[in-house]
Amino acid sequence: MPKYKQNVIFYEEKKPLFDLYEIDMEISRSLDRKIWLKSGGYIVIDEAEALVVIDVNTGRFVGKKDLEDTILKTNLEAIREIAHQLRIRNCGGIIIVDFIDMEKESHREKVLEAMRDEVSKDRARTHVMSMSQLGLVEMTRKRTRPSLIRILCEPCSYCEGKGYIKRKSTIANEVFRELERDAGQFGNKKQNIVVHCHADVADWVYETEGDTLEHIEKKIGQSVAFKIEPTYHLEQYEIFFV
Ligand SMILES: [Zn+2]
Repeated sequence: MPKYKQNVIFYEEKKPLFDLYEIDMEISRSLDRKIWLKSGGYIVIDEAEALVVIDVNTGRFVGKKDLEDTILKTNLEAIREIAHQLRIRNCGGIIIVDFIDMEKESHREKVLEAMRDEVSKDRARTHVMSMSQLGLVEMTRKRTRPSLIRILCEPCSYCEGKGYIKRKSTIANEVFRELERDAGQFGNKKQNIVVHCHADVADWVYETEGDTLEHIEKKIGQSVAFKIEPTYHLEQYEIFFV
């Protein structure tokens, strides 16, 4: 497109171009769940497979006197950030925004109108529905390209995208139950039991569940040793009878 030649400048500086416009910072902000607003409030964005949920929060204690105004101000400030984030993250499908509850009908209308206004600047077709009794606003956004998260990230290999892993106490208790279950099957036969597991689980057992372990050893009439496996996933363990 030669006619746009005058719009293009060849960048030759030493400083990376991304740094000049703080692109890396903006990207990392757009991959975070929690985004702070200037007023001290914040929004939390959860991008699920079929739904994007955005929660607006005041973040700090506000006096009762001007509470309603602070809430309105925070909601309005959040709207600009939400519209910006929807564009930069390239969110698509159904979007639900949970605004901070507003008492006044006029405030609710103002927020809804501001949201409609803000998304009208969006190049992707975005529709804002009405506000529900609980203060939720439903929107739809038509997206043509994959979202930023899809482009830059993949599901966490450690938790397989669940976003959670079991607590050490949960795994330790699973081990204890399995010890009781399995040891019973071998009757009186004397054996050595070795539990192979992640270092954190073994540490947890020795540091906080020593009594439980002792109780189980007594109950099954066998001693139990823990062997640390550096390559194991936190949730992974195996019980050997040797
Ligand atoms: Zn994970």
